Amino acid sequence: MTAAQPRRAAATLHDETRPTENEYAVIGRAEGSGYQVWSVERTPADPDTRQQFLEELSNDAEDQWGGVSTVYATSPQEAEERIRHEQARIAGLAPDQETHMPAKTTDPDITPEHLLTPATPAIVAVITTPEHFEALRTYDILPFTDHTTYLTHIENLLRAHTARGQHTIAVLFDPEEYTDYCDEGNIDPAAPTSQGRYTAEAAATGTRLTYHGQDIAHLTNELHAQADQDDSYECARRILDLADLGPCPDCGDSSARTGHALEKAMRLLIAILDRAGTGTHKVTTCIDAFGEKLIACVNAEQSTVDTPVRINEHEALQVAAILAAGIATHTTGGVILCTSTPDAPDRVFGWRLEHGDLTQPTAGEVFLAFGTAPTDNDTSDTEYRPGYNLTPGSEWPTHH
Ligand SMILES: [Zn+2]
Repeated sequence: MTAAQPRRAAATLHDETRPTENEYAVIGRAEGSGYQVWSVERTPADPDTRQQFLEELSNDAEDQWGGVSTVYATSPQEAEERIRHEQARIAGLAPDQETHMPAKTTDPDITPEHLLTPATPAIVAVITTPEHFEALRTYDILPFTDHTTYLTHIENLLRAHTARGQHTIAVLFDPEEYTDYCDEGNIDPAAPTSQGRYTAEAAATGTRLTYHGQDIAHLTNELHAQADQDDSYECARRILDLADLGPCPDCGDSSARTGHALEKAMRLLIAILDRAGTGTHKVTTCIDAFGEKLIACVNAEQSTVDTPVRINEHEALQVAAILAAGIATHTTGGVILCTSTPDAPDRVFGWRLEHGDLTQPTAGEVFLAFGTAPTDNDTSDTEYRPGYNLTPGSEWPTHH
C-alpha cells in the first residue's frame, strides 16, 4: 500500500492584520465520533527535511495505530481545533460550521480539503454481524449499544477517509481472533489500546480488502467472502505442505510436486487472463479437497488491447495455491472466467480440473455446472462457453 504524497499548499498571502499561518502536523487517531489528538508539531520549511520529518512522524503514529494530517494555522491550538472540526465535518458527525469558523487563509486556492492532507493510509476494523458485535461488547470497548448504529458510524468513518483521498482498508474484526490475539500477547482485551493493536495485526495478516465506496451491506458481504477465501487458501497451503504427496506426476521429481503444481497453476491462470481480452475479469477456482470445497477468486482488468492485464496479486496468489492443491492431489474441480465488457453480455468460460490438468467441457456442461450458480455479474443474457485450449505451446513454455 502506498500513502498519498502530502500535498504542499501554495504559499499563503497574508493580510497585514492577521497573524502568520504556519504548517502544522497533527498526530492522532479517529476514535468514536471524535478525533484524539496526540501532539501538534511545526513542520520544517525545507521541503526535503519536511518530507523526512513527516515520514518519521507517520511511522511513529502508525506504530500506535494513528495518523498524521497537515494543516495551516496560526497556532498549534488552532491547528488542533481545525483538525478536530474537519474530522467531525467530513465524517458527517458535526454540522458544517464553516460560517462560524471561516478559513483563515486569504489564498482562494486553499479550500478546507486542501488544508487537511492525509499522510497515511486508513485502516478500519469492521464488526460484520450482530453476533460478533454482542461478543465484543462484553469487553466494553465499543461506544455503541447496537450493531446497526455501529455500522452507520463505520460507514461514515470509511467515507470520511476516502473523501480525503486516503487509501482505506477495511479489516474483519472477529471476536474469536481478537480474544486469541489478546491471550497470546498477554494483553487486556478490555484496554482501549488493544483494539488498535489487533487492527494493525489484522490488517497485516487477517482478512482485509480495499474500501472503494461500496455501501456497508456490500462491504460486510465482501469481507465474509474474503474470509472464506482466506480459509480456503490456508487449507490449500496445508495440503501443499504435506510431505507425502509423492513425486511430481509430470516429471517424477520426488521433491518437486508442490513447486511444479504451483508453477503450473500460475501458468494456467496467466494463460487464461492473457487471452481473456479487454474488460473486467473474475477467475474463480473451486476444488474438492478431502471432502471440503475450497474456493477462491481473483479480479483482473484489461482496459485496452495495448495495456497489460492488471491483477489483484493477493487474490491471484490464493487462487493459484488452491488450483495448485487440486493439481498436486489430482482431485476434481474447475475454473471459470467471467468477463464483463460494456455493451455486451457477460461471457463465462469454464474448464474442468481432471488428473492435474484443465480440460475443456462443452458449452452445455459449462452452463450446467455454472449457469445456475450466482455470480456478481449475473444477467439473463450471460453467454456460457467452453474454456479455450490452455495446452502449453510456444507461447507458454513449461519446465518439462
Ligand atoms: Zn514436475
